[in-house]
Amino acid sequence: MGNAESTEAVETPLEQEPTGMAPVTILVTGGSGLVGTAISKVITGGDCRVNENWKFISSSDCDLTDLEAVRKLFEYVKPTHVIHLAAMVGGLFHNMSANLQFFTKNMAINQNILQCCNEFDVQKCVSCLSTCIFPDKTTYPIDETMIHNGPPHNSNFGYSHAKRMIDVLNRGYAEEHGRKYTAVIPCNVFGPCDNYSLTSGHVIPALIHKTYVAQKEGKPLQVYGTGKPLRQFIYSLDLARLMIWAVRHYDEIDPIILSVGEEDEVSINDAVNAVVKAFDFKGEVLHDTEKADGQYKKTASNAKLRRYLPEFQFTPFEEAIKESVQWFIDNYETARK
Ligand code: NAP
Ligand code: GDP
Repeated sequence: MGNAESTEAVETPLEQEPTGMAPVTILVTGGSGLVGTAISKVITGGDCRVNENWKFISSSDCDLTDLEAVRKLFEYVKPTHVIHLAAMVGGLFHNMSANLQFFTKNMAINQNILQCCNEFDVQKCVSCLSTCIFPDKTTYPIDETMIHNGPPHNSNFGYSHAKRMIDVLNRGYAEEHGRKYTAVIPCNVFGPCDNYSLTSGHVIPALIHKTYVAQKEGKPLQVYGTGKPLRQFIYSLDLARLMIWAVRHYDEIDPIILSVGEEDEVSINDAVNAVVKAFDFKGEVLHDTEKADGQYKKTASNAKLRRYLPEFQFTPFEEAIKESVQWFIDNYETARK
Protein backbone atom coordinates (compact mmCIF):
# COMPACT_ATOMS: atom_id res chain seq x y z
CA MET A 1 0.00 0.00 0.00
CA GLY A 2 1.09 3.58 -0.48
CA ASN A 3 0.51 6.03 2.36
CA ALA A 4 -3.16 5.39 3.05
CA GLU A 5 -2.42 6.51 6.63
CA SER A 6 -2.08 10.05 5.29
CA THR A 7 -5.69 10.07 4.10
CA GLU A 8 -7.41 12.98 5.78
CA ALA A 9 -11.06 13.35 6.66
CA VAL A 10 -12.44 16.50 5.07
CA GLU A 11 -13.21 19.25 7.56
CA THR A 12 -16.71 20.30 6.70
CA PRO A 13 -19.34 22.71 7.85
CA LEU A 14 -22.10 20.44 9.05
CA GLU A 15 -25.46 20.48 7.40
CA GLN A 16 -28.44 20.32 9.77
CA GLU A 17 -29.79 16.84 9.12
CA PRO A 18 -32.29 14.75 11.02
CA THR A 19 -30.44 13.32 14.04
CA GLY A 20 -30.16 9.61 14.73
CA MET A 21 -28.71 8.62 11.35
CA ALA A 22 -26.07 5.89 11.59
CA PRO A 23 -22.51 7.15 11.08
CA VAL A 24 -21.13 6.42 7.61
CA THR A 25 -17.62 6.59 6.20
CA ILE A 26 -17.61 7.33 2.48
CA LEU A 27 -14.40 6.45 0.65
CA VAL A 28 -14.00 8.29 -2.66
CA THR A 29 -11.45 6.65 -4.98
CA GLY A 30 -10.13 8.98 -7.67
CA GLY A 31 -10.57 11.80 -5.15
CA SER A 32 -7.89 13.93 -6.83
CA GLY A 33 -9.47 13.82 -10.30
CA LEU A 34 -12.03 15.95 -12.13
CA VAL A 35 -15.09 14.35 -10.55
CA GLY A 36 -13.50 13.60 -7.16
CA THR A 37 -12.41 17.20 -6.59
CA ALA A 38 -15.87 18.42 -7.62
CA ILE A 39 -17.50 16.13 -5.03
CA SER A 40 -15.03 17.37 -2.42
CA LYS A 41 -15.89 20.97 -3.32
CA VAL A 42 -19.64 20.36 -2.93
CA ILE A 43 -19.11 18.55 0.37
CA THR A 44 -16.77 21.17 1.83
CA GLY A 45 -19.12 23.85 0.49
CA GLY A 46 -21.78 22.71 2.94
CA ASP A 47 -23.50 19.59 1.58
CA CYS A 48 -22.12 17.33 4.30
CA ARG A 49 -24.35 15.54 6.77
CA VAL A 50 -23.54 15.28 10.45
CA ASN A 51 -23.24 11.49 10.27
CA GLU A 52 -20.90 11.47 7.24
CA ASN A 53 -17.13 11.14 7.27
CA TRP A 54 -15.68 11.62 3.75
CA LYS A 55 -12.26 10.27 2.73
CA PHE A 56 -10.86 11.26 -0.66
CA ILE A 57 -7.89 9.27 -1.95
CA SER A 58 -5.57 9.50 -4.94
CA SER A 59 -3.05 7.10 -6.50
CA SER A 60 -0.42 8.40 -4.08
CA ASP A 61 -2.49 7.00 -1.19
CA CYS A 62 -2.92 3.59 -2.79
CA ASP A 63 -2.26 1.93 -6.14
CA LEU A 64 -5.66 0.37 -6.70
CA THR A 65 -4.30 -2.09 -9.27
CA ASP A 66 -2.62 -3.87 -6.32
CA LEU A 67 -5.11 -6.06 -4.44
CA GLU A 68 -3.07 -6.28 -1.24
CA ALA A 69 -2.68 -2.49 -1.17
CA VAL A 70 -6.44 -2.11 -1.60
CA ARG A 71 -7.04 -4.54 1.27
CA LYS A 72 -4.77 -2.46 3.52
CA LEU A 73 -6.56 0.71 2.43
CA PHE A 74 -9.95 -0.77 3.34
CA GLU A 75 -8.59 -2.08 6.65
CA TYR A 76 -7.38 1.41 7.48
CA VAL A 77 -10.34 3.51 6.23
CA LYS A 78 -13.10 1.02 7.14
CA PRO A 79 -15.56 2.48 4.61
CA THR A 80 -19.25 1.77 4.92
CA HIS A 81 -19.84 3.38 1.50
CA VAL A 82 -17.63 3.81 -1.57
CA ILE A 83 -17.84 6.19 -4.50
CA HIS A 84 -15.53 4.51 -6.97
CA LEU A 85 -14.18 6.99 -9.51
CA ALA A 86 -10.54 5.94 -9.92
CA ALA A 87 -9.73 4.86 -13.44
CA MET A 88 -7.40 5.39 -16.34
CA VAL A 89 -9.37 8.10 -18.15
CA GLY A 90 -8.68 9.98 -21.37
CA GLY A 91 -10.10 11.62 -24.45
CA LEU A 92 -10.63 10.00 -27.85
CA PHE A 93 -6.98 10.19 -28.96
CA HIS A 94 -5.59 8.76 -25.70
CA ASN A 95 -8.07 5.88 -25.89
CA MET A 96 -7.17 5.14 -29.50
CA SER A 97 -3.48 4.91 -28.63
CA ALA A 98 -3.73 2.65 -25.57
CA ASN A 99 -6.77 0.36 -25.69
CA LEU A 100 -4.92 -2.54 -24.03
CA GLN A 101 -3.74 -0.42 -21.09
CA PHE A 102 -7.20 1.11 -20.62
CA PHE A 103 -8.61 -2.40 -20.47
CA THR A 104 -6.07 -4.06 -18.17
CA LYS A 105 -5.65 -1.20 -15.66
CA ASN A 106 -9.35 -0.51 -15.32
CA MET A 107 -10.24 -4.19 -15.08
CA ALA A 108 -7.73 -4.62 -12.25
CA ILE A 109 -8.84 -1.50 -10.36
CA ASN A 110 -12.54 -2.33 -10.63
CA GLN A 111 -12.17 -5.97 -9.68
CA ASN A 112 -10.02 -5.08 -6.64
CA ILE A 113 -12.39 -2.38 -5.42
CA LEU A 114 -15.52 -4.48 -5.70
CA GLN A 115 -13.84 -7.56 -4.20
CA CYS A 116 -12.70 -5.49 -1.19
CA CYS A 117 -16.13 -3.85 -0.87
CA ASN A 118 -17.53 -7.35 -0.45
CA GLU A 119 -14.71 -8.62 1.82
CA PHE A 120 -14.97 -5.58 4.11
CA ASP A 121 -18.77 -5.56 4.20
CA VAL A 122 -19.22 -2.20 2.46
CA GLN A 123 -22.96 -1.45 2.38
CA LYS A 124 -23.04 0.47 -0.85
CA CYS A 125 -20.66 1.15 -3.73
CA VAL A 126 -21.41 3.55 -6.57
CA SER A 127 -19.02 3.13 -9.51
CA CYS A 128 -18.74 5.13 -12.70
CA LEU A 129 -19.45 3.91 -16.22
CA SER A 130 -19.71 6.33 -19.16
CA THR A 131 -22.07 6.97 -22.07
CA CYS A 132 -19.12 6.26 -24.39
CA ILE A 133 -19.26 2.54 -23.54
CA PHE A 134 -22.66 2.04 -25.21
CA PRO A 135 -23.02 0.06 -28.45
CA ASP A 136 -21.83 1.84 -31.55
CA LYS A 137 -24.64 0.56 -33.75
CA THR A 138 -27.80 1.29 -31.84
CA THR A 139 -31.08 3.13 -31.79
CA TYR A 140 -31.41 6.52 -30.08
CA PRO A 141 -31.80 7.66 -27.43
CA ILE A 142 -29.69 5.10 -25.62
CA ASP A 143 -30.93 4.04 -22.19
CA GLU A 144 -29.63 2.04 -19.23
CA THR A 145 -30.98 -1.28 -20.57
CA MET A 146 -28.79 -1.16 -23.70
CA ILE A 147 -25.24 -1.29 -22.27
CA HIS A 148 -24.46 -4.81 -23.49
CA ASN A 149 -26.46 -4.76 -26.75
CA GLY A 150 -23.51 -4.82 -29.15
CA PRO A 151 -19.85 -3.85 -29.51
CA PRO A 152 -18.75 -0.36 -28.45
CA HIS A 153 -17.10 2.06 -30.89
CA ASN A 154 -13.73 0.68 -31.99
CA SER A 155 -11.80 3.75 -30.86
CA ASN A 156 -12.21 2.96 -27.14
CA PHE A 157 -12.99 -0.76 -26.98
CA GLY A 158 -10.52 -1.32 -24.11
CA TYR A 159 -12.00 1.32 -21.79
CA SER A 160 -15.56 0.37 -22.78
CA HIS A 161 -15.29 -3.34 -22.15
CA ALA A 162 -13.58 -2.78 -18.78
CA LYS A 163 -16.34 -0.35 -17.77
CA ARG A 164 -19.09 -2.70 -18.93
CA MET A 165 -17.66 -5.39 -16.64
CA ILE A 166 -18.44 -3.20 -13.61
CA ASP A 167 -22.11 -3.79 -14.38
CA VAL A 168 -21.43 -7.54 -14.60
CA LEU A 169 -19.61 -7.44 -11.24
CA ASN A 170 -22.45 -5.47 -9.64
CA ARG A 171 -25.02 -8.00 -10.81
CA GLY A 172 -22.82 -10.88 -9.63
CA TYR A 173 -22.27 -9.39 -6.17
CA ALA A 174 -26.02 -8.77 -5.88
CA GLU A 175 -26.93 -12.32 -6.90
CA GLU A 176 -24.32 -14.19 -4.90
CA HIS A 177 -23.76 -11.92 -1.91
CA GLY A 178 -26.90 -9.75 -1.75
CA ARG A 179 -24.78 -6.63 -2.24
CA LYS A 180 -26.08 -3.21 -3.24
CA TYR A 181 -23.31 -2.22 -5.61
CA THR A 182 -24.41 -0.04 -8.49
CA ALA A 183 -23.10 2.33 -11.15
CA VAL A 184 -23.86 5.71 -12.65
CA ILE A 185 -23.36 6.52 -16.33
CA PRO A 186 -22.19 10.11 -16.87
CA CYS A 187 -21.93 11.73 -20.27
CA ASN A 188 -18.78 13.73 -21.20
CA VAL A 189 -17.68 15.65 -18.06
CA PHE A 190 -15.71 18.92 -17.86
CA GLY A 191 -14.82 21.51 -15.24
CA PRO A 192 -12.14 22.74 -12.82
CA CYS A 193 -9.23 20.33 -12.11
CA ASP A 194 -9.84 18.47 -15.39
CA ASN A 195 -7.00 16.91 -17.36
CA TYR A 196 -6.14 19.84 -19.67
CA SER A 197 -3.53 17.87 -21.65
CA LEU A 198 -3.45 18.66 -25.36
CA THR A 199 -2.85 15.01 -26.18
CA SER A 200 -4.65 12.91 -23.56
CA GLY A 201 -7.49 15.20 -22.44
CA HIS A 202 -11.15 15.16 -23.44
CA VAL A 203 -12.34 17.63 -26.04
CA ILE A 204 -13.40 20.55 -23.80
CA PRO A 205 -10.28 20.77 -21.61
CA ALA A 206 -8.11 20.26 -24.72
CA LEU A 207 -9.97 23.05 -26.55
CA ILE A 208 -9.66 25.37 -23.53
CA HIS A 209 -5.91 24.77 -23.35
CA LYS A 210 -5.49 25.15 -27.14
CA THR A 211 -7.47 28.39 -27.22
CA TYR A 212 -5.45 29.77 -24.30
CA VAL A 213 -2.20 29.09 -26.21
CA ALA A 214 -3.59 30.31 -29.57
CA GLN A 215 -4.71 33.59 -27.98
CA LYS A 216 -1.40 34.10 -26.20
CA GLU A 217 0.67 33.38 -29.31
CA GLY A 218 -1.66 35.06 -31.84
CA LYS A 219 -2.02 31.79 -33.77
CA PRO A 220 -5.07 29.95 -35.19
CA LEU A 221 -7.03 27.51 -33.04
CA GLN A 222 -6.69 23.98 -34.40
CA VAL A 223 -9.82 21.83 -33.89
CA TYR A 224 -9.50 18.09 -34.55
CA GLY A 225 -11.95 16.31 -36.86
CA THR A 226 -14.91 17.81 -38.66
CA GLY A 227 -16.56 19.37 -35.60
CA LYS A 228 -19.80 17.66 -36.59
CA PRO A 229 -20.07 14.88 -33.96
CA LEU A 230 -22.66 15.41 -31.25
CA ARG A 231 -22.07 15.14 -27.51
CA GLN A 232 -23.89 15.68 -24.22
CA PHE A 233 -21.68 17.46 -21.70
CA ILE A 234 -22.17 17.70 -17.94
CA TYR A 235 -20.46 20.22 -15.65
CA SER A 236 -18.41 18.41 -12.99
CA LEU A 237 -20.09 20.33 -10.14
CA ASP A 238 -23.53 19.18 -11.37
CA LEU A 239 -22.31 15.60 -11.64
CA ALA A 240 -20.89 15.87 -8.12
CA ARG A 241 -24.30 16.84 -6.71
CA LEU A 242 -25.88 13.90 -8.54
CA MET A 243 -23.26 11.43 -7.32
CA ILE A 244 -23.78 12.56 -3.73
CA TRP A 245 -27.50 12.02 -4.24
CA ALA A 246 -26.78 8.56 -5.72
CA VAL A 247 -24.68 7.38 -2.78
CA ARG A 248 -27.33 8.60 -0.33
CA HIS A 249 -30.56 7.69 -2.12
CA TYR A 250 -30.19 5.56 -5.28
CA ASP A 251 -30.90 1.97 -4.25
CA GLU A 252 -31.11 0.04 -7.52
CA ILE A 253 -28.39 -2.34 -8.72
CA ASP A 254 -29.16 -1.36 -12.33
CA PRO A 255 -27.22 1.70 -13.41
CA ILE A 256 -28.58 5.18 -14.00
CA ILE A 257 -27.56 7.68 -16.69
CA LEU A 258 -26.44 11.04 -15.24
CA SER A 259 -26.63 13.41 -18.17
CA VAL A 260 -28.21 16.55 -19.45
CA GLY A 261 -31.23 15.86 -21.63
CA GLU A 262 -31.22 14.91 -25.31
CA GLU A 263 -32.33 18.45 -26.11
CA ASP A 264 -29.06 19.76 -24.67
CA GLU A 265 -26.83 17.74 -26.97
CA VAL A 266 -24.42 20.01 -28.87
CA SER A 267 -21.97 19.57 -31.73
CA ILE A 268 -18.21 19.76 -31.24
CA ASN A 269 -18.42 23.02 -33.24
CA ASP A 270 -20.94 24.38 -30.70
CA ALA A 271 -18.45 23.52 -27.94
CA VAL A 272 -15.68 25.28 -29.91
CA ASN A 273 -17.88 28.37 -30.24
CA ALA A 274 -18.62 28.41 -26.49
CA VAL A 275 -14.91 28.19 -25.65
CA VAL A 276 -14.02 30.85 -28.25
CA LYS A 277 -16.72 33.13 -26.81
CA ALA A 278 -15.57 32.61 -23.21
CA PHE A 279 -12.01 33.63 -24.18
CA ASP A 280 -13.25 36.36 -26.55
CA PHE A 281 -10.81 34.73 -29.01
CA LYS A 282 -10.67 36.67 -32.26
CA GLY A 283 -8.24 34.46 -34.18
CA GLU A 284 -8.87 31.96 -36.96
CA VAL A 285 -10.43 28.55 -36.21
CA LEU A 286 -9.10 25.71 -38.40
CA HIS A 287 -10.21 22.07 -38.64
CA ASP A 288 -7.75 19.21 -39.04
CA THR A 289 -10.03 16.72 -40.76
CA GLU A 290 -7.23 14.15 -40.97
CA LYS A 291 -7.83 13.62 -37.24
CA ALA A 292 -10.55 11.21 -36.09
CA ASP A 293 -14.12 12.23 -35.29
CA GLY A 294 -14.76 9.20 -33.07
CA GLN A 295 -18.32 8.02 -32.53
CA TYR A 296 -20.75 10.37 -34.31
CA LYS A 297 -23.14 10.51 -31.38
CA LYS A 298 -24.04 8.69 -28.16
CA THR A 299 -27.32 10.44 -27.42
CA ALA A 300 -28.46 9.19 -24.04
CA SER A 301 -31.84 9.51 -22.35
CA ASN A 302 -31.94 10.96 -18.83
CA ALA A 303 -35.60 9.94 -18.38
CA LYS A 304 -34.76 7.62 -15.46
CA LEU A 305 -32.87 10.42 -13.68
CA ARG A 306 -35.80 12.75 -14.34
CA ARG A 307 -38.20 10.26 -12.74
CA TYR A 308 -36.10 10.41 -9.55
CA LEU A 309 -35.15 14.12 -9.68
CA PRO A 310 -37.61 16.02 -11.89
CA GLU A 311 -36.52 19.39 -10.51
CA PHE A 312 -32.73 19.01 -10.80
CA GLN A 313 -31.22 22.11 -12.44
CA PHE A 314 -28.17 21.72 -14.66
CA THR A 315 -25.78 24.65 -14.98
CA PRO A 316 -26.31 26.20 -18.45
CA PHE A 317 -23.56 24.97 -20.83
CA GLU A 318 -22.11 28.40 -21.68
CA GLU A 319 -21.98 29.40 -18.01
CA ALA A 320 -20.16 26.17 -17.09
CA ILE A 321 -17.71 26.70 -19.97
CA LYS A 322 -17.05 30.27 -18.77
CA GLU A 323 -16.33 29.04 -15.23
CA SER A 324 -14.01 26.31 -16.55
CA VAL A 325 -12.13 28.77 -18.77
CA GLN A 326 -11.75 31.17 -15.85
CA TRP A 327 -10.52 28.33 -13.62
CA PHE A 328 -7.93 27.35 -16.25
CA ILE A 329 -6.69 30.94 -16.64
CA ASP A 330 -6.48 31.39 -12.86
CA ASN A 331 -4.71 28.06 -12.33
CA TYR A 332 -2.62 27.84 -15.50
CA GLU A 333 0.68 27.20 -13.70
CA THR A 334 -0.56 24.29 -11.59
CA ALA A 335 -3.34 22.83 -13.79
CA ARG A 336 -2.94 19.22 -14.94
CA LYS A 337 -1.79 19.58 -18.53
P1 NAP B 1 -9.48 11.87 -13.76
O1 NAP B 1 -9.64 13.32 -13.58
O2 NAP B 1 -8.53 11.39 -14.81
O3 NAP B 1 -9.05 11.24 -12.36
C1 NAP B 1 -8.72 9.90 -12.28
C2 NAP B 1 -8.55 9.55 -10.83
O4 NAP B 1 -8.22 8.17 -10.72
C3 NAP B 1 -7.40 10.34 -10.16
O5 NAP B 1 -7.79 10.66 -8.85
C4 NAP B 1 -6.26 9.32 -10.16
O6 NAP B 1 -5.33 9.54 -9.12
C5 NAP B 1 -7.06 8.04 -9.92
N1 NAP B 1 -6.33 6.85 -10.32
C6 NAP B 1 -5.96 6.50 -11.58
N2 NAP B 1 -5.27 5.34 -11.55
C7 NAP B 1 -5.21 4.96 -10.25
C8 NAP B 1 -4.62 3.86 -9.56
N3 NAP B 1 -3.96 2.90 -10.22
N4 NAP B 1 -4.75 3.80 -8.23
C9 NAP B 1 -5.40 4.77 -7.55
N5 NAP B 1 -5.99 5.81 -8.13
C10 NAP B 1 -5.89 5.91 -9.47
O7 NAP B 1 -10.86 11.16 -14.06
P2 NAP B 1 -12.33 11.76 -13.95
O8 NAP B 1 -12.60 12.46 -15.24
O9 NAP B 1 -12.52 12.45 -12.67
O10 NAP B 1 -13.20 10.43 -13.99
C11 NAP B 1 -13.80 9.89 -12.82
C12 NAP B 1 -14.67 8.71 -13.23
O11 NAP B 1 -15.70 9.16 -14.10
C13 NAP B 1 -13.90 7.62 -13.98
O12 NAP B 1 -14.34 6.36 -13.54
C14 NAP B 1 -14.29 7.86 -15.42
O13 NAP B 1 -14.22 6.68 -16.17
C15 NAP B 1 -15.71 8.36 -15.28
N6 NAP B 1 -16.18 9.21 -16.39
C16 NAP B 1 -15.45 10.31 -16.75
C17 NAP B 1 -15.90 11.08 -17.82
C18 NAP B 1 -15.14 12.30 -18.29
O14 NAP B 1 -15.56 12.91 -19.30
N7 NAP B 1 -14.09 12.73 -17.63
C19 NAP B 1 -17.09 10.74 -18.49
C20 NAP B 1 -17.81 9.63 -18.06
C21 NAP B 1 -17.34 8.86 -17.00
P3 NAP B 1 -4.07 10.54 -9.36
O15 NAP B 1 -4.63 11.93 -9.40
O16 NAP B 1 -3.22 10.32 -8.16
O17 NAP B 1 -3.44 10.12 -10.64
P1 GDP C 1 -15.38 11.20 -26.69
O1 GDP C 1 -16.52 12.11 -26.36
O2 GDP C 1 -15.30 10.00 -25.80
O3 GDP C 1 -15.35 10.84 -28.14
O4 GDP C 1 -14.00 11.93 -26.38
P2 GDP C 1 -13.51 13.43 -26.45
O5 GDP C 1 -13.99 14.20 -25.30
O6 GDP C 1 -12.04 13.32 -26.64
O7 GDP C 1 -14.18 14.10 -27.76
C1 GDP C 1 -13.79 13.68 -29.03
C2 GDP C 1 -14.45 14.51 -30.11
O8 GDP C 1 -13.96 15.86 -30.05
C3 GDP C 1 -14.08 13.98 -31.50
O9 GDP C 1 -15.11 14.27 -32.41
C4 GDP C 1 -12.83 14.80 -31.82
O10 GDP C 1 -12.57 14.86 -33.21
C5 GDP C 1 -13.25 16.17 -31.26
N1 GDP C 1 -12.11 17.05 -30.95
C6 GDP C 1 -11.85 18.25 -31.56
N2 GDP C 1 -10.71 18.78 -31.08
C7 GDP C 1 -10.27 17.92 -30.11
C8 GDP C 1 -9.13 17.94 -29.23
O11 GDP C 1 -8.30 18.84 -29.25
N3 GDP C 1 -9.01 16.91 -28.35
C9 GDP C 1 -9.94 15.89 -28.29
N4 GDP C 1 -9.79 14.94 -27.38
N5 GDP C 1 -10.99 15.85 -29.14
C10 GDP C 1 -11.15 16.83 -30.03
